[in-house]
Amino acid sequence: MKKVIIIGYGPAGVTAAIYLKRTGIDPLVIGKDLGALDGYSDLVENFYGFSEPIEGYKLIQNGVDQAKNLGIEVITDSVISLKQDETGFVVKTQKKSYHSEAVLLATGKTRQTLNIPGFSKYRGKGISMCATCDGYFYRRKKLAIVGCGPYMLHELEYLNRISADVTVFTHGNELPNLTENPVVFDQILSFKGDDKITHIVTNKGEYPVDGVFIALGVPSSIDFASQLGVVVEKNNISVDQNYQTNIEGLFAAGDIIGGKLQIAKSVYDGMQAADSIYSFLKDKSKKA
Ligand SMILES: Cc1cc2nc3c(=O)[nH]c(=O)nc-3n(C[C@H](O)[C@H](O)[C@H](O)COP(=O)(O)OP(=O)(O)OC[C@H]3O[C@@H](n4cnc5c(N)ncnc54)[C@H](O)[C@@H]3O)c2cc1C
Repeated sequence: MKKVIIIGYGPAGVTAAIYLKRTGIDPLVIGKDLGALDGYSDLVENFYGFSEPIEGYKLIQNGVDQAKNLGIEVITDSVISLKQDETGFVVKTQKKSYHSEAVLLATGKTRQTLNIPGFSKYRGKGISMCATCDGYFYRRKKLAIVGCGPYMLHELEYLNRISADVTVFTHGNELPNLTENPVVFDQILSFKGDDKITHIVTNKGEYPVDGVFIALGVPSSIDFASQLGVVVEKNNISVDQNYQTNIEGLFAAGDIIGGKLQIAKSVYDGMQAADSIYSFLKDKSKKA
């Protein structure tokens, strides 16, 4: 029986593990990959402490190595279900089952990609998956955002602050929420350009662009949390001020709880969640 299982070894999960270890609690950390920045070789240059930009995947790998070097148990496996029993939680992975008194969900968010010609070619060359991360480089430019749900509106709000020329492309989908931005409902056929993207090609024409932001869906990795009846609002797991969900002993931190989808915020969440988990376990042992 573990005291805490942390699902996810991105910035939120690893930070929580490091802070818990400091309190004398040995967490088990389970992750399936390097999360949002898995395989992301573009540079991160807005995280504190790096005098030179660092490749995204390297930053996250460093965090995992740091946890291991501190003696934290980190395993690579996929969690496929989460259940409660009389003693706490049962975390089932593809390979085995683990028991714990508390669980921290730090599973991040899955960003959808597009199976459209030109997407891979221009990703990082005018196509971005994150307005808050890259929007700054496209100030006052002609921008497009591809999406139709709450995540698109969240990203659009940011883009509208940096450019007066942002068009929404729904890629053939309906748009449930109204927006004052121009909307193109056409099906996108391809992205075209030279060394950088210059146009979106649809079934009805070609649209010039300087930058395209993809904001399709962003479904959370909340499936197994939902199995327990965790409250989810707009694709974010709801937590109280102690990072606890509506289920006692089940905590969540990082991208999965919404807010700014940034490393700095996930690190902060992880640290705070560790404090709350520590208090929870202390109270629990007093009552026992
Ligand atoms: C392309 C891109 C560029 C970005 N650039 C920047 C940037 O420059 N600066 C910045 O601050 N932020 C950037 N971000 C955002 C940043 O990467 C995230 O905010 C941050 O990684 C979130 O941390 P997290 O710990 O919440 O989740 P993640 O880092 O996504 O980690 C989630 C963890 O949960 C694990 N997991 C998920 N489901 C399961 C499961 N079923 N079983 C086991 N493990 C599971 C994953 O394997 C992973 O280990 C970028 C994001 C993207 C996509």
